[in-house]
Amino acid sequence: MRLLIVEDERKVADMIVRGLRAESFAVDVAFDGNSGWEMAAVVNYDLIILDLMLPGMNGTELIRRLRQKGGKAAILVLTARDATQDKVDNFEAGADDYLTKPFAFAELLVRVKALLRRPPANVDHVLRVADLEIDRLAQQVRRAGKRIDLTSKEYALLEYMVSHAGRVLTRTMIIEHVWDESFEGLTNIVDVYVRHLREKVDEPFGAKLIRTVRGAGYCLSTEPEGAA
Ligand code: CA
Repeated sequence: MRLLIVEDERKVADMIVRGLRAESFAVDVAFDGNSGWEMAAVVNYDLIILDLMLPGMNGTELIRRLRQKGGKAAILVLTARDATQDKVDNFEAGADDYLTKPFAFAELLVRVKALLRRPPANVDHVLRVADLEIDRLAQQVRRAGKRIDLTSKEYALLEYMVSHAGRVLTRTMIIEHVWDESFEGLTNIVDVYVRHLREKVDEPFGAKLIRTVRGAGYCLSTEPEGAA
């Protein structure tokens, strides 16, 4: 597997490159948009990890050009927090997934492996757990076919839980991903939002997906309570 990283923040680029090489991937790196495009235009990469704000050509333009040219590489976009319009624009331009900065390398690796397993023709922006569906492009949630309206924080929390379905998420993990690293409020903000989600996503539908894992946190799962 051959991967290209296009990222002008050297520290971030180095962290990704070192980590992926340790996982036995062949990794090239470009520190600006123009050299990234030159490399992407001539090498058949399996996956491109792309920052959006780049000197020279920006990430969105690079995606557009690559897709116009018929480039099939999976594209993982690195975005700033809460840049919803960016996500929509870039999915439309042809990105396959996105990861919000800052992120842990382990999380990037999970995304990379998932993208590399995914057949290019079968790119899907819809996450599903049981009868719950999240369209990450439209940021719409449905359960049993019924549209559920969520606030942006509720949506972010649910998307985080659904994309990590089956895993126990601690309140700290949730705060770091859904709120801000500098968030200094009480961790019971998570409990408050989980309660809102339960009222909208679970209670009207009978079968519960959001589990409390005593002493640990929360888990979105189809397993019976206690099994998580
Ligand atoms: Ca940048």
